[in-house]
Amino acid sequence: MSDAEPQFQTTQKNQTTWVLASNNKGKLAEFKRLFAEANLDVTIIPQGELDIEDAVEDGLSFIENAIIKARHASCISGKPAIADDSGLCVPVLGNAPGIYSARYAGEHGNDTNNNAKLVAELQPTRAQQPDTPIKGLFVCVLAMVRRADDPLPIIAQGLWQGEILDQPHGEGGFGYDPLFWLPDMQATAASLSATDKNRVSHRGQAIQQLLQQL
Ligand code: IMP
Repeated sequence: MSDAEPQFQTTQKNQTTWVLASNNKGKLAEFKRLFAEANLDVTIIPQGELDIEDAVEDGLSFIENAIIKARHASCISGKPAIADDSGLCVPVLGNAPGIYSARYAGEHGNDTNNNAKLVAELQPTRAQQPDTPIKGLFVCVLAMVRRADDPLPIIAQGLWQGEILDQPHGEGGFGYDPLFWLPDMQATAASLSATDKNRVSHRGQAIQQLLQQL
């Protein structure tokens, strides 16, 4: 498959439509590609196209927030909805930034400041053990609800292990990708092609797991 950007399927009469409960541009780009590859008989509409604002994410775990977001999008749209709650967990920081990954440095979605804060928070650990790689774990939880009060959401989770660098490398991806080093691939997540990232990432794994449950 080429790296040219795929589109979400346009709505066809009688086809099932799901709302994608996210306004994050980086995630949307990855979902477009992943859903195009999955060949689902479903049309996906990003919630922004329906003027649905972000939900208040007041859960304490990825899974709680994924369900909150999916229910919110389904409640407003009246359609089935799928949400992704994801982030980076760093064990030496007590798994921070975790569910607060998008707003780690304060402003929601400011990747530059979030990355700078992560590097600063890890400085004392690095100074103490300069030769020990600092582990990180990308987490993606997907929740799909058929209706707003669905008692049995479909849940899928993907985990992706790597190491956290002290300087960004690579131009692709989004969020913490430039700091996320993959020793096996000798690359950061930001230097992988979109296709390669989706093949191994937390989001790619979660989507495969979701598809198996449908
Ligand atoms: P959410 O929209 O509340 O789920 O927050 C997701 C945040 O986690 C993003 O804003 C990024 O900071 C981070 N994140 C999630 N997935 C990725 C990824 O694939 N690469 C880099 N950062 C990610």
